[in-house]
Amino acid sequence: MADLDEYRAKRRAGKTPEPLERKGRKKKSKELVFVVQRHSARALHYDFRLERDGALLSWALPRGVPLRAGERSLAVHVEDHPLDYADFEGDIPAGEYGGGSVEVWDRGTYELQRERRDGTLTVILHGRKLQGEWALVPARLGGEERNWLIVRAAKDGAAGPVQVYEPMLAREAQRVPSGTGWAFELAWEGVRALAPVAGARGHFQHTAGDALDARCKQVLARMPRALRTSECVLDGVICALDDAGQPSRELLEGGGGTVVYLTFDVLEYETEPLIEQPWKARRERLEALLDDSVAEVRLSRSYDDGSALRAAARARGLGIVAKQRKAPYLPGQVSDDWRLLRP
Ligand code: MN
Repeated sequence: MADLDEYRAKRRAGKTPEPLERKGRKKKSKELVFVVQRHSARALHYDFRLERDGALLSWALPRGVPLRAGERSLAVHVEDHPLDYADFEGDIPAGEYGGGSVEVWDRGTYELQRERRDGTLTVILHGRKLQGEWALVPARLGGEERNWLIVRAAKDGAAGPVQVYEPMLAREAQRVPSGTGWAFELAWEGVRALAPVAGARGHFQHTAGDALDARCKQVLARMPRALRTSECVLDGVICALDDAGQPSRELLEGGGGTVVYLTFDVLEYETEPLIEQPWKARRERLEALLDDSVAEVRLSRSYDDGSALRAAARARGLGIVAKQRKAPYLPGQVSDDWRLLRP
């Protein structure tokens, strides 16, 4: 039987909403469960848990679950958790152990394929997202017993290497297009940049110069916490906002203001390419994956009434971009499906 003493010793009854007592509820099926929880604690990580002997074997993954063939990342072995923890989502109060929010990122059942004498576990996951083979290896990284590796097998249709995209560009236009087929956004004054995020770390493509990169450090540091995923490719604009929330190129180039990333599109989500999907579907994905509690990474709002937005934008000295709702993302192309109207 699993030992949950360490789990209980770290938590205070009545102070945390996490399950402490065994409910004694019988499981409905004999299948072994796994769960991955996104834990936005002091350091953001993903908790990977496998049912075993009536408890959950647990590892904390600072870079999320590796999704591409042969990819590996650190899995810090932590104390066993009670089975009921597989259903836990909620906010652990600040100051308590693991203070922060917990969300289920994926769950399902698994089969233990192999267990080696050294402790390596090879498992086949049947989740909503995770499908296929992973191995947990007691690699003792840095000489630490608890530092395991999690490895995605190079089979079962595991995703290939990272793809690089070029931004889709708008054609200049004079008139606000009419009809319901269009959505409208502010044309933010700043530096256009795609942001590939892998292993819960992002960087900006197409930024020109070290000065800007230095200014973006804080934005990139906050990015994992702004996203409900460890792996995606975003499109957006890096802006420096003044005290009134107005984007300013002078502030961006000269220093000052609050640097933020205003994102308006998602080209890939957890290795699944989205560029062939209509703008509307990509937009829904984007809205679902952003955690709006992070000020440094924001959704660029979308509006239905182009004329009203244009008038409001003009008053701020900004242009607008009209986007065809049905249009796919065309990397590197100047397209009629996106239209830039200058102020
Ligand atoms: Mn955790």
